[in-house]
Amino acid sequence: MRFANVAGRLTLLTGPTTGVDIHSASGGRFPADPAGVYEQWAGLLDWVRELDLATAETVPVTEQQLGNPAPRPQQVFAIGLNYADHAAEAKFAVPETPTVFTKFPSCLTGPFGQVTLPDGDVDWEVELVAVIGRRAEAVQEEHAWEYVAGLSVGQDISERRLQLAGPVPQFSLGKSYPGFGPIGPVLVTPDEVADREDLEIGALLNGEQIQKGRTSDLVFSVAALVAQLSAVTPLLPGDVIFTGTPAGVGLGRKPPRFLKPGDELVSYIQGIGEMRHVMAAPSVE
Ligand code: ZN
Repeated sequence: MRFANVAGRLTLLTGPTTGVDIHSASGGRFPADPAGVYEQWAGLLDWVRELDLATAETVPVTEQQLGNPAPRPQQVFAIGLNYADHAAEAKFAVPETPTVFTKFPSCLTGPFGQVTLPDGDVDWEVELVAVIGRRAEAVQEEHAWEYVAGLSVGQDISERRLQLAGPVPQFSLGKSYPGFGPIGPVLVTPDEVADREDLEIGALLNGEQIQKGRTSDLVFSVAALVAQLSAVTPLLPGDVIFTGTPAGVGLGRKPPRFLKPGDELVSYIQGIGEMRHVMAAPSVE
């Protein structure tokens, strides 16, 4: 199943430009707001399986309407250095335990539109995002996928000067400017992708391929992250995990390269979809 946030309403996609509005079609059983439905995720999946798609009323869906399918999570986890080739370009050893930080939820945004560049060195990091569909506490790795509602594409946009200022790197603030956490264009249930453990992931800047990897190269897989994070802190329905980026970020280039106004950044994962963002200069008062 593929779900989207269509103008703030959770929608089951039935084609490239059509969907079923969950709140209307369920007679109000499920909320319209995508953020409210993760508490009832298992019930939603059961309901969709019973839905007669031949007679269900559909609504048109356009790209311009699409928002973040996982808005307002209570917790956002992000993982650093989770691909060996990215750890190498960042000049760190491959971690033996996950390197965890947060992106404050106010940075999250939708899959299309503009991102305003603050002062500094703003970089790209395409990432697989996992969204939690069921409270997870001390979950075993072999059962971890049962707690994942779906997968999406994320961008962990990062301002490097703030990230690297101070005696030790502090990831969270420099990665949390408004618009620095795009998620989308859709949420795909794990059974819907061909191989949930091995998806091509990449990014293009003005049409040039700048990142390309495979999620099978994750140091800590989605299942391992759910197990290791939930061993410490309960994961809640609707929570978001940014799982880390493969090689090719701007900071690792010689010379380093950063985003500038007018740049178009495309972020994609095979079997999920692509997001497109245009960088904008801050508006001058
Ligand atoms: Zn990242």
